[in-house]
Formats: sequence, C-alpha cells, structure tokens
Amino acid sequence: MSKINSIKKRFVFRFYAELNDFLPEQRRQREFEEWFKTPINVGDTLVSFGIPFSEVDLILVNGESANVKHSLKEKDRVSVYPQFESMDIRGQTQLRKIPLRETKFILDCHLGKLTRYLRMLGFDCFYKNQMDDEAIIDKSLHEGRIILTRDKLLLKSERITHAYYLRSIEKHEQLREVVQKFDLYQQFKSFSRCISCNAKLQVVDKKWVKTRVDEDTYRIFDRFFYCTVCDKVFWKGSHFKRMENYIRDLLKER
Ligand SMILES: [Zn+2]
Repeated sequence: MSKINSIKKRFVFRFYAELNDFLPEQRRQREFEEWFKTPINVGDTLVSFGIPFSEVDLILVNGESANVKHSLKEKDRVSVYPQFESMDIRGQTQLRKIPLRETKFILDCHLGKLTRYLRMLGFDCFYKNQMDDEAIIDKSLHEGRIILTRDKLLLKSERITHAYYLRSIEKHEQLREVVQKFDLYQQFKSFSRCISCNAKLQVVDKKWVKTRVDEDTYRIFDRFFYCTVCDKVFWKGSHFKRMENYIRDLLKER
C-alpha cells in the first residue's frame, strides 16, 4: 500500500444527483477517495470514473468553479454536479459556455419510438436509423441539438456539449425523463410537427381531406393536419388521446 501511495496521489470526490448512476454502488451519494498518478486533470478523473462530460454542468475544486482541464493537486476535493437545464447556475458554470436557446434534439438510432412521441408534442427531433456517432455529434454541434441516447460509449466523446443519457428503456418513462430533465412543460405544441419526418404540419380544411381519409374518420373528426413532405394526413385519434392523458398526468406531477 505504501508503495502505491508513493507513486499515486490522493484526491477526494463527490458526485451529485443522477451522476451517481454512473458509479458503482459503494461510491454513490457519498464522498470517496481515489488515488491517481499525477499530473492529472479533472477531465481525466471523470473519464476514469465513466462520467460523460455531456452530463456534467458544474465542477468545483475546493469550492471553486473549475473546468475539465483544471490540473489537480494532492488532496483536492472535487465536487461534480449534473446539468441543471431548468436552474440558473450559468454564472458559475465553466464547462458549458453557450447555452442552447431552443430545445431541439437528435436521437440515436434505438430511440425511434421516443422520437415519435416528442414530435407528437411538437419538438424538433432529428432521427435517422444508422447514423454513426461522429455524424450525430457533428449534427448536434452544428444545429444546437441535444443528443438523447442510451449509448454510454457515444457520450464519452469530448466534443459533445449537450447530451442526456436516458435511464429508462421504456418509451413512456423516457418521455417523462426528457420532459422533466429539460423542463419542457411549457413548450408542448401538439400536432405542429409530422411524427414521421419532423416537418411542420399544416392545418387543412376538412373538405380537403374527404378523399384522403376513410368515411368513419371523416365523420368523427373535424380537425386535420397535413404533412407536405410525406403527403400524409393526421388527426387526433385514439392513440393521440391516450398520449394526451399521459401528458396530463405528467403535468399534474409537476
Ligand atoms: Zn412528414
């Protein structure tokens, strides 16, 4: 043990809130010590713990705001906080310099269902099956899109500025996570966007859809929406009603 200590130096870490999801049980929700060879910076230690930079919004070293390049000295205390999209900590954040203004997403190829749900609520979501990690990151950076993924490997890239690691594998739960995480309650605009292609929908006259939908649909519904890209007509059918109820429950929980 003494031999190890003579090479490595001791540091103290504490990870907050959902960052604990990335740690083994015995290190969650508590301060713990770790030895590292020096020189080492904060970013290197985060990588070794498997914490994606994109999940981190605030790092304090001995109580002072620091970025990932900050070089650590023996016995430094490092506190790491997750993204607080809905709270104002911008003043003391060093990791993320440019806040995203509009909430837009890009989803990895396993999240097709979540993509449709978010689009149904009107959120701009880019999705393509078979898109490699670098292309996803490029698009996220160029268009200011938040990456949604369950791929921890993808999140390891240092180029990522805005991303969220989904904890749940169930689509409703995933939707709840995203809505809560990014505080989207005020931004729902249902039926403003095509769930298939993400284009903006147009409200169309009922008579205009007469030859495009079946008789029952035409009789029951009065409001119709049209995607010029897919040439598809949408209406608020039973699937949407179920979704609407789910959203109402989400809003109540708030
Ligand atoms: Zn479309």
